[in-house]
Amino acid sequence: MSELNLILLGPPGAGKGTQAERLREDFALAHISTGDMLRAQVSEGTELGKQAQSYMQAGELVPDEVIIGMIMVRIGAADARDGFLLDGFPRNEQQADALGEALATLERRLLAVLLIEVSDDEVVRRLGGRRVCTKSGHVYHLEFDPPKHEGICDQDGSRLIQRDDDHEQTIRKRLEVYHAQTAPLIEYYEKEGLLRRFDGRRPPNEVNDHIRATLATLRLEDKL
Ligand code: ADP
Ligand code: ADP
Repeated sequence: MSELNLILLGPPGAGKGTQAERLREDFALAHISTGDMLRAQVSEGTELGKQAQSYMQAGELVPDEVIIGMIMVRIGAADARDGFLLDGFPRNEQQADALGEALATLERRLLAVLLIEVSDDEVVRRLGGRRVCTKSGHVYHLEFDPPKHEGICDQDGSRLIQRDDDHEQTIRKRLEVYHAQTAPLIEYYEKEGLLRRFDGRRPPNEVNDHIRATLATLRLEDKL
């Protein structure tokens, strides 16, 4: 069977993490979130975390050399051998080029790039109400997807917090960075014939159903 190597693309707050959590369970994929990896490095106080922290707080991209090295090691790990779901990477053309070259060397390839589309206003609404758990990063929304008990993760009972960069000014900066540096990847992957679009305004379950249907078709086509 072909490897399910996928990229989730979309602005901050589009629902990439939310969908990744579901797809990972449905398809047994390694979920590779550069944001989660960086936040773990920051909280452990590693050298890489120290380099990344100020960029993250400002809503800027962490330098490519830091990110690319980190991702290449991760893609080669045992659990990513049969398929991976990249969430938050690539974020600019240099990162996309580096990924393409690395996959070619490994004789692997991408099956699809899943673009989740939402407007800037929706991003601001979603990120302003986003809460994440301190233990595993499970994602909630105060209004759209509240936990059963206020301030507590349904899945592991840990405390829910607001991310440092989920405040209005940083959200606006992240959107600017997205439009300037990441959105050009839409055309990049469209040219490669890999892009699939999803309406991210739909409720999470509907978005998930659409993605699963698309993946089922892609897998069938790939086998023919
Ligand atoms: P979201 O998807 O909510 O925008 P992420 O968790 O993906 O946020 O990323 C948080 C921050 O981590 C980004 O604003 C950026 O500073 C850094 N980051 C994550 N992935 C990358 C990447 N591929 N390249 C550069 N910086 C990154
Ligand atoms: P990303 O990883 O793209 O930054 P998240 O998955 O963290 O996005 O979602 C951002 C916020 O929006 C979270 O608070 C999440 O609960 C909420 N959310 C995710 N998907 C939807 C959706 N389809 N409709 C409404 N809210 C959503």
